[in-house]
Amino acid sequence: MKIRNILISGAAGFIGSHLCDKFLENSYHVIGVDNFLTGTPKNIEHLLEMENFEFIHHDITAPLELNSVDLILHFACPASPVDYLKFPLETMKVNSVGTLNMLEIAKKHDARYIFASTSEIYGDPTVHPQSESYWGNVNPIGPRSVYDEAKRFSEAISMSYFREQSLDMRIIRIFNTYGPRMKSNDGRVVPNFITQALNMENITVYGNGDQTRSFCYITDLIEGIFEIALTDNLKGEIMNLGNPEEYKIIDLAKIIIEKTSSESQIIYKSLPEDDPKQRCPDITKIKGLTGWQPKVSLKEGINLTIDYFKNK
Ligand code: NAD
Ligand code: UDP
Repeated sequence: MKIRNILISGAAGFIGSHLCDKFLENSYHVIGVDNFLTGTPKNIEHLLEMENFEFIHHDITAPLELNSVDLILHFACPASPVDYLKFPLETMKVNSVGTLNMLEIAKKHDARYIFASTSEIYGDPTVHPQSESYWGNVNPIGPRSVYDEAKRFSEAISMSYFREQSLDMRIIRIFNTYGPRMKSNDGRVVPNFITQALNMENITVYGNGDQTRSFCYITDLIEGIFEIALTDNLKGEIMNLGNPEEYKIIDLAKIIIEKTSSESQIIYKSLPEDDPKQRCPDITKIKGLTGWQPKVSLKEGINLTIDYFKNK
């Protein structure tokens, strides 16, 4: 399939802006759409003068008319627990009405469509590591359900367009990703700990810190999405994307204290409701389909992210 024009929803966000960079570097024409709910114009200001970049300030829950689209990367949605708990209705709307609008554009233009899903659809998993065949363990009415269930709905409706409309649809389940352009106040663990450590503030570990996460550096994730977007035979595939190196949150805190040479102390705060106890992607499927695997270790990625926050 010949791909030239790419629509990226959530273009001014953390991942969306890196995706814009990647496709522009590879000479594609990128149409970025964002309403700046959780993203910032700063993330894309270096792109605005580029001939191949077009930006539309728009809320994708309203219809959007475009002349030509070959590929849609649907990434618009608050992603940090702090953000989606602050914007619960917006989160549910962008994953229902917003997703429907993106799917309709894909159908109209016969475009390839990629949905940014999440490891959160596995909830607090009872199967470890999580492979794509696991159905998850989600509280449908807890506070996090505004994100988890909304993403599950988006997956269901995207699958329906694949089954009923033969859309070239792919779902990527993204596991915790970090790196430059995350907001220092976005509430996710990596920017929180780095900002606290650099400011010599207490490091806030929620619960006893025994819960685990697996952290993927942004450049690895972008390479994986790029592969998935441009590989022809992935229609209808659901793929985990993340780094299977798994860490306890307490150990992440210690690594960040060491790497920043900080004198910050660790303090313990209450664990948010339904906070998953463990999370680690099984990436066998994506490796087999595309050969992709992450290259950046946590320690390397944390160093690069610390440099970013230091220079901000
Ligand atoms: P982010 O908050 O930095 O980016 C999301 C972007 O979407 C923001 O720029 C925001 O303004 C925009 N947006 C939100 N609602 C919109 C709307 N109605 N119309 C137009 N734009 C809208 O978050 P991120 O970390 O870059 O995440 C991007 C996507 O990846 C999200 O869909 C998220 O669920 C998914 N994801 C991210 C991670 C991660 O670790 N970063 C993990 C799993 C899934
Ligand atoms: N967390 C923490 N301190 C913080 C922020 C987060 O201990 O200041 C924990 C959080 O409870 C969770 C993990 O770190 O267990 C990852 O949280 P994050 O918000 O980054 O993403 P999640 O994986 O929960 O979506």
